[in-house]
Amino acid sequence: MRLQPFPGRILLVMLATALTSLPAAWWVATGRAGEPPPVMLDPGHGGIDGGASREGMLEKAITLDVALRTRRHLEAFGVPVRLTREEDVDLGGPPGSGRHGRDLAERVRRTREAGAALVVSLHVNSTRDPEEAGMMFFYLRGSAEGERLARSLAGALASLHRRREEPVPRENLYVLSRAGVPAVLIELGFLTNPGDRERLGDPHYREQVALRLALALQAYYRQLQKPQAPAVPGPAQGPPPYTGLPRHIY
Ligand SMILES: [Zn+2]
Repeated sequence: MRLQPFPGRILLVMLATALTSLPAAWWVATGRAGEPPPVMLDPGHGGIDGGASREGMLEKAITLDVALRTRRHLEAFGVPVRLTREEDVDLGGPPGSGRHGRDLAERVRRTREAGAALVVSLHVNSTRDPEEAGMMFFYLRGSAEGERLARSLAGALASLHRRREEPVPRENLYVLSRAGVPAVLIELGFLTNPGDRERLGDPHYREQVALRLALALQAYYRQLQKPQAPAVPGPAQGPPPYTGLPRHIY
């Protein structure tokens, strides 16, 4: 079929409409034009970076699936939500030296550009010891809000794995330290543990994880949006107890 050229007048109107709507679209996209700040979900890895893998299961696919499910619930609750990636892509640009660092930097850039209220990075763990199992929650050491968010998410997910995990403070996890907002990194389980692997491979389980995450995120988000009472100085608190680290954090 031969395409008819647009008459000049219609083309002009279309151009004017596009130009006038550009700034608004841009501001809405960045979540800043009086829009409430979104919850940012960060599905770890993607594209050429599969993350942890075992028996055909890839970390990048599990993290994206849980993020998409969590987004659906949050949207149903009326909470604005964004993802650092929505497809099976990595964010590090061309493969080669420094790709992993660029990937993490891009996740932080997108979080900051969106004016996010908080960010939750999703990962899946892997280690040599097949006995090692369970979720892990990391927050930036010294961040009271990060710790509060981590405790809230750990509490919400506790019923799924029959024990409450103690969130672990970290200093050297890039996304946590650079996001500039309350940030939590969750390891959803160990692909190297048969029980965890079976659960993570089950869409019903991933749905349960997503629903609990969304419920906790909604509660935390609503509290964050309320006007804060002036802070009352309390007794100084020491760091939370050290609960050990996995051999690898993927
Ligand atoms: Zn990972």
